[in-house]
Amino acid sequence: MKEVQYNGLTFEPYIEKERIAARVKELADQIKKDCEGKVPLFICVLNGAFPFAADLFRAVDMDAEITFIRLKSYEGMSSTGVVKEVIGLSENIKDRTVIIVEDIVDTGKTIHRLIEDLKKKEPAELKIATLLFKPEALVCDVKPDYVGFEIPKKFVIGFGLDLDGMARNLEDVYQLKENA
Ligand code: 5GP
Repeated sequence: MKEVQYNGLTFEPYIEKERIAARVKELADQIKKDCEGKVPLFICVLNGAFPFAADLFRAVDMDAEITFIRLKSYEGMSSTGVVKEVIGLSENIKDRTVIIVEDIVDTGKTIHRLIEDLKKKEPAELKIATLLFKPEALVCDVKPDYVGFEIPKKFVIGFGLDLDGMARNLEDVYQLKENA
């Protein structure tokens, strides 16, 4: 695998698709176990989570539903902290087991805000599945239930994660190369 470039920045291969697939399967098995006897509703947070959500949802070998919402809190490479809902939730989640599917939890502000909103709709339980988690960057009181990979506080792209809209279709996750 080779380095890729976007906006004049160089990114190096970081998590290969085979590792992602294997980890997704493990998370799916865990979710299936935890949700036995229930029909969980997956809520995919667009845009970044769509490849992870598609893989995770198909790997969860049980009755389940999926829906999509869209929030935005990020401009370029630094979090603005401003979260705005672009596409709302039409499903009734009262008394449902809900699994929010995120691409990455960085400061945790996005997921924290979303959880506060969803709690008002009285789900039976609210869980968070995220492909990537940067524990060192976390400033909110949130704890993802299902984490693909814990990663350091470095900017990553690929497998749904973008740089100004690009790179989402890379099959692997790439990390910004320092001093490139
Ligand atoms: P948080 O609110 O947790 O700080 O940020 C969550 C959102 O910021 C993610 O859904 C994602 O869109 C964006 N984000 C955070 N870290 C990264 C990163 O390393 N790479 C990319 N491409 N987006 C990130």
